[in-house]
Amino acid sequence: MTAPRNSAVGEQGSTESTEAAQPHKSAKGPKGARPESRLALVRRARRINRELAEVYPYAHPELDFENSFQLLVATVLSAQTTDLRVNQTTPALFAAYPTPEDMAAADPEALEQLIRPTGFFRAKAKSLLGLSAALRDRFGGEVPGRLEDLVTLPGVGRKTANVVLGNAFGVPGLTVDTHFGRLVRRWKWTAQEDPEKVEAEIAALFPKSEWTMLSHRIIFHGRRVCHARKPACGACPIAPLCPAYGEGETDPDKAKKLLKYEMGGQPGQRLRPPADYPGRPAAPLGAAE
Ligand code: SF4
Repeated sequence: MTAPRNSAVGEQGSTESTEAAQPHKSAKGPKGARPESRLALVRRARRINRELAEVYPYAHPELDFENSFQLLVATVLSAQTTDLRVNQTTPALFAAYPTPEDMAAADPEALEQLIRPTGFFRAKAKSLLGLSAALRDRFGGEVPGRLEDLVTLPGVGRKTANVVLGNAFGVPGLTVDTHFGRLVRRWKWTAQEDPEKVEAEIAALFPKSEWTMLSHRIIFHGRRVCHARKPACGACPIAPLCPAYGEGETDPDKAKKLLKYEMGGQPGQRLRPPADYPGRPAAPLGAAE
């Protein structure tokens, strides 16, 4: 494994790891302490984003795709499963049905079998058939580049639409998935639970141009360090800025063992990661993982 550039993770004894073991000053403030001002929140949020950009200069969507149709299909398939499982499934799927026209004309059972490893394959096959037919019939066989059009496609919600817009069309968008929601609440950027309200509140903290990369960085951090059940606080490079420091393991050695993907020396989720990804590619379906 190649260590991520500029990462403080796992470097015991370095200035950075010493700093990473210190909690954010307001983590356990005195009772009645003044709430953080709006300006302080914006500054802290932007500082966390800058730190994450240093830690994950290679942050990217973790679905393999070559065009907007493939990204749309992969994102629909990613519901309730890992990006890894989707990436292991889509090579055969896209070889069989390279275009919306091909997929719209697919035999439903054959399509179901191809996407079976991603789970909920009957419902997902129905969505893929429906959205492919809609692309063929209403959008000239092309994926539309507008949110209001994308959300009319079967199986496509706001989150999927934003992923496609941000990564295939260069239209800034926030991807509020389970990792994003959990981390921004831990960081007290918002207290909202509803993804659309989370999206609106976080959007207001950052310039639009940051939205897509911010989403990738947060999701990278949630998958590698700030896990749902066992966040690796003792190996977290942004601990000094985090009000939730201590929610997870603070012992640096134990925390280091919780790190995942390239930070934990494991393969990533993409079979074909971008050239600057410092980790190893994932193995194809059926190969030893
Ligand atoms: S792992 Fe998560 S909760 Fe722990 S310090 Fe880092 S960002 Fe905060």
